[in-house]
Amino acid sequence: MTALEKKFYYLFWNDDVCQSIFLKPKTELLENEVELILSKEQAYPPRLVLTNSLKQKQFEETAMQRTEYQGIEVLHNLQSSLKKYFDEDRLMEYAEKKFGKITSKVREEIKDFDTLFEIGIELVTSLRSEKATLKFLNRFNVVPKGIKTLDELKKYYEAEIISDIKKFLSNDNLIELVLTIDLVSAYHNQRLKESLIAATKHSTDVLYNSENFKSRVLLFDKLYDISVVLGRDFKSYYECVNCPPDTFNGIITTNIKPSKLIIKCPNCQKETYYIVPYRINEIIYKHIIHEDGLLFFAIQYLLEERRIRFEIDKNFLKDVQIDIIIINSDNLISYAMEIKMFKTDRPKDTQIGNFRQTVGQVKKIKEKMQKAGQGDWISLPYFVVTNITDELIIKEAIEVLKQDLKDYNITILSPKQFFQTHI
Ligand SMILES: [Zn+2]
Repeated sequence: MTALEKKFYYLFWNDDVCQSIFLKPKTELLENEVELILSKEQAYPPRLVLTNSLKQKQFEETAMQRTEYQGIEVLHNLQSSLKKYFDEDRLMEYAEKKFGKITSKVREEIKDFDTLFEIGIELVTSLRSEKATLKFLNRFNVVPKGIKTLDELKKYYEAEIISDIKKFLSNDNLIELVLTIDLVSAYHNQRLKESLIAATKHSTDVLYNSENFKSRVLLFDKLYDISVVLGRDFKSYYECVNCPPDTFNGIITTNIKPSKLIIKCPNCQKETYYIVPYRINEIIYKHIIHEDGLLFFAIQYLLEERRIRFEIDKNFLKDVQIDIIIINSDNLISYAMEIKMFKTDRPKDTQIGNFRQTVGQVKKIKEKMQKAGQGDWISLPYFVVTNITDELIIKEAIEVLKQDLKDYNITILSPKQFFQTHI
């Protein structure tokens, strides 16, 4: 494990707030949908969003309502501005001449100027990655044969189009086109703000309902200090919701320790509402989205620290895989472990059902290994460690499954109980 991972997992095992947040499965910890310009995508963005949650609901509502109105306005201004400066007919004529064979495909998608504009925006968003852009362009067959990288494509079009651009720009008030850039940036800021508000809604609803603000900021400070969360990469949003709209707000870059994010509105001196996303360190992010979840790595850290010999993802027979086996000084397996991260936002019955399913899975493994003459697997101690911390649910699961747990020597443990167990 790297030093950063060690620091993080030390924090994980020694800080209750850290544990309660990172024991959430990826579907709850991260937003599972990001709104792109035209569509909602299923993805897990590597960000955790911090907001001043005192009065958070009230802030959020005001900001959201304002956003709706501003969104409509910004889009309207941008479209009318583009219509003013681009000669629609000439643009279409040009496209047809230049890309004759592809215009039928383009025509299918581009029904009017508004759609054309939307596709343009889609192109802008896909520009973040070379692959996405080429994929987008391929949709319209506009990537000439032999072009493999964006750089080549850019050079091609620089030669082909840039020299022609004046043909489809209106000549009147061309200089004012420059002003459109401000509108384009307003449009992007608007979308960014909407995405941030959606993110903070997710974070506050899921993560912080039972936490108080101080302990959360304190934890974020610790995570920031050890570079598990990083500033600067994603833009932040500040707005005074106390003053009339557009008195004091903006999208800004921040690389600031979480406890120092508060700024006062210059106009009314009240605390401004902030939404500040931090990028999650890449390694920790990979652990979060790993199919076994972050707990799998937290346990490996603990075993390493305790100098216990173990192996992970151990394969036996044809179709048996065990998450972790512990090996004793005689080179024999002394324990086996199954690590699970369940969804925690499910009703109690579903959660008990998850335990039942896991215990059933362990029983099957034990029977297979026993049958195949691999030793006395039925009585081999087997730990089932899950992210479930609710003692009542664990108690009930143990009660419901007590016969199986006894017959197969299976122990269900919460992370804390595993931490306190000396194996
Ligand atoms: Zn103010």
